[in-house]
Amino acid sequence: MLAQSTNSWEQRDKEYVFHGFTDMSTLNSSGPVVLTHGEGINVYDVHGKSYMDANSGLWNNVAGFNHQGLIDTICDQARRFPGYHAFFGRIADTTVSLSEKLVQISPFERSKVYFTNSGSEANDTMVKMLWMLHRRNGQPQRRKIVTRLNAYHGVTVASASMTGKAYNEEFGLPLPGFLHADCPHYWRFGLDGESEAEFTARMARNLEELIVKEGPDTIAGMFAEPVMGAGGVIPPSEGYFEAIRPILRRYSIPLVADEVICGFGRTGEMWGNEKYNMEPDAIVTSKCITAGYFPMGAIILGPNLSDELQRVSEEAEEFPHGFTAGGNPLGSAIALKALDVIENEGLLENVTKVSPRFIKRLNKLGEHEYAGEARGVGLMGAVELVADKITKEALPDDLQVSERIANKALEKGLICRPLGAAIVLGPPFIITEAQVDEMFDILEATMEEVFTDVGL
Ligand SMILES: *Cc1c(COP(=O)(O)O)cnc(C)c1O
Repeated sequence: MLAQSTNSWEQRDKEYVFHGFTDMSTLNSSGPVVLTHGEGINVYDVHGKSYMDANSGLWNNVAGFNHQGLIDTICDQARRFPGYHAFFGRIADTTVSLSEKLVQISPFERSKVYFTNSGSEANDTMVKMLWMLHRRNGQPQRRKIVTRLNAYHGVTVASASMTGKAYNEEFGLPLPGFLHADCPHYWRFGLDGESEAEFTARMARNLEELIVKEGPDTIAGMFAEPVMGAGGVIPPSEGYFEAIRPILRRYSIPLVADEVICGFGRTGEMWGNEKYNMEPDAIVTSKCITAGYFPMGAIILGPNLSDELQRVSEEAEEFPHGFTAGGNPLGSAIALKALDVIENEGLLENVTKVSPRFIKRLNKLGEHEYAGEARGVGLMGAVELVADKITKEALPDDLQVSERIANKALEKGLICRPLGAAIVLGPPFIITEAQVDEMFDILEATMEEVFTDVGL
């Protein structure tokens, strides 16, 4: 090992760090942003420059970057009981309390909770739960998993197979048996002259055709985000879940709500599934559960799946699965506190209060001549850029307009995220109306500059 170098943070990063989900040419030309700390909704880099983070880190730092109550909870729990597992029937008291709390705030009248360290692991675990359940119930052929194009469910081998993004071809994924139904994005995929209701009916018809073609009794379950997040903030078309729910019931296909982004308030309600009448059989959570202060994922099983899994695990002697750090007491204490902060310190209320201002400014951005669609709900939104508002024709790829906007915004001290041709925003739940204005003022100015730069 070398002695610590005297090189800059940026040079040391270049030498020692391998970055994922990072545009390598931008990284090579602009270097990394190395951060030291945060305050409220801002983070600070090693040069003291401040950035407003319009993405809450990765959707998760909803209480800001230095919430004192959360920090105190971390210190107190660390002194009392910082680490244990949840295998062999042993478990930290705090983890039991967190399970109880999650069941209380869940939409289920009865429920049990299973802990992982991430959203990807939670989705992978849910797939194994469904596979075991069907196998023990005499339907071992029920293994196929249905998700949607543009969905994001994570990066582990199963959850990457569930994710409906082309980049997973790099890994030869999806695995066989992972099916992708239509993306219910009316603005993008609606046909000429097709009403939104007709579009929704077509989405449902296509899903049923897919199920019938594959064989209903070969399908283990369907997973869906209430609002697609990393697909570019895509709320479902009007009536979508009400239309697909009876189809899934008809073929006894469980529906899992992937609430990793929507859960705990992002849409303005505690759960996205309630906002869109999903009536899921289980809920997968992560991200906001610890306000981004600890890695954690959790599956909240509805009454049927919970009872059934209990029964088949007794038959099998155990549910042979677990992550060493799953249900860690430090994470559990942080999650208990984070949920308390979201519910009782006015964060959920603030999402509802600030959302109209957020949506108004988002829609104003949508009036820009190169904005095809502005869409959002609660405190999540996106503006999708196009060459032509009417034909929805894409801007030339090589202009990289959304990346340029994000890079220029970064120079101006605003972190926002380019996702395909869209700019995505998902600020912390503590953002004020004045900060919402500041965020959009910077973004508007940035867009003007970039469109001038690229000669549009
Ligand atoms: C982020 C995300 C995941 C994956 O969570 P990780 O903790 O990154 O593994 C899964 N589903 C959705 C909807 C997500 O947004």
